Amino acid sequence: MASRRRQRRQDQPRRPRLAHFRADGAPKTRFARREDAERAALQARLEHGTNLGSYLCDMCDGWHLGSRDDDAL
Ligand SMILES: [Zn+2]
Repeated sequence: MASRRRQRRQDQPRRPRLAHFRADGAPKTRFARREDAERAALQARLEHGTNLGSYLCDMCDGWHLGSRDDDAL
């Protein structure tokens, strides 16, 4: 009798990292330029202490901010 362990080969999270939508289903804020996104990320860090990263969205061809903490989940 072989020991059966639940082994998940797929490490991928259910939701893609580079998402156009937030976790609650609402579309993320879109920034036309990376500069704007980075600036907003910096502001969020200063004001709220949140660590955000900017990325280019395939869906709307704009920039979004994502929480880096999400990556750890
Ligand atoms: Zn988008």
